[in-house]
Amino acid sequence: MDICSIRKDFPILNRTVNGKKLVYLDNAATTQMPSQVLYAYTQHYSLDNANVHRGIHTLSEISTAKLEDARAAAARFIGAPSPECIVFTSGTTDSVNTVVRAWAENMARGSFSIVATAMEHHSNYLPWLDLCTRRGGNFVEIPLSQDGRLDTVALGKALTPETILFAVTYVSNVTGAVNDIKGLIDLAHSRGVPVLVDAAQAAREFPIDVSELGADFLCLSAHKMLGPSGVGLLYVAKRHFEELVPCRLGGGMISDIRNGLPVYEQMPHFLEAGTPNIGGIVAFHEAIRYIESVSRGYIEERETMLTSRLREMLSQLKDVRILGLSDTGGSCVSVVSGRFHPYDAALLLDKQGVAVRSGTHCAIPCHRALGVTGSLRFSPAFYNTEDELEAAVTAFDRALSILDRAAGGKP
Ligand code: PMP
Repeated sequence: MDICSIRKDFPILNRTVNGKKLVYLDNAATTQMPSQVLYAYTQHYSLDNANVHRGIHTLSEISTAKLEDARAAAARFIGAPSPECIVFTSGTTDSVNTVVRAWAENMARGSFSIVATAMEHHSNYLPWLDLCTRRGGNFVEIPLSQDGRLDTVALGKALTPETILFAVTYVSNVTGAVNDIKGLIDLAHSRGVPVLVDAAQAAREFPIDVSELGADFLCLSAHKMLGPSGVGLLYVAKRHFEELVPCRLGGGMISDIRNGLPVYEQMPHFLEAGTPNIGGIVAFHEAIRYIESVSRGYIEERETMLTSRLREMLSQLKDVRILGLSDTGGSCVSVVSGRFHPYDAALLLDKQGVAVRSGTHCAIPCHRALGVTGSLRFSPAFYNTEDELEAAVTAFDRALSILDRAAGGKP
């Protein structure tokens, strides 16, 4: 694979920002789309646009076939046994909320607990906290060590006969820590507890096989894997189909109304009321094709190399602390220091064309667990180059000097 030809596929990488060449290192927030994905989207609306599963005219059938092809491709991509396990959603947040409404509301009877971790993005934390608050359940947060590792001893104690679900991220969007997701699922299952995996950060980089993992639910977003925003998926293991209840009511999710009662469609249509984001799903399919053509092995290898190079360079900077373990695996590195406020540093980097994320990255519990209030996150993707990393770290060093001077010459 040739990085120059890969970069040619991503037109946005050639633009300038504030008069400087763009260095895009905010891939944990959203990745860029290759021309192939953009083309699939515009081609769909230029030539094939129609609603799905409703009409019998040619365009409706083409659109329906494209949507169902995308579902089959998504199922293969994550190792799902069949396409009916794949529900299209608007993204990870929507997927988690769908599991709350369609499954957990139904399972939360009597006294119950839900176990999540301090490593979660708010989208895999707040819906569970809210469910427990509304229904009188016990919300248990598994703590992290100072270096950002999950406390598996605490997890072992938290999983009790009352636990209806363990919600856990595969990869942290703050430290890049990669959980031993198979080990965690096996532990939870040994206690009879189903597991929801947030694969938002993992899906681009790591091969996922839900059948091998034994995951009960898995959520991801297309926009973190070269696809458009507003599309994602929810995987539901077949063994849970019977436990699902309708959560959104509307077109496409019933087959009849008999004696005043709806007759529901089978999965996955049962959970897909209304017109889906058809063009977005077609583009998502193209993103999957693109990842498969580049190969996840190549992406993982390159992102691992870029992230460790970045860690190495950032660790040379005076008084800058890298959050988490020294060697994690996920493609993001978050830093803190008394020398800068994340917002100031991000603004000064932006002035130099470097896009990074500042704040809590929707992960307040994680920052709290690490004893900080926010951080500056650099997150490369495989299409970044070592030169870009060097440019970003040089720009960061320059920003730190400006901030040192503004603070009166410290440190
Ligand atoms: N989980 C993780 C680990 C994430 O990084 C994100 C996005 N930052 C989400 C969930 C939420 O994804 P979305 O906004 O696409 O719903």
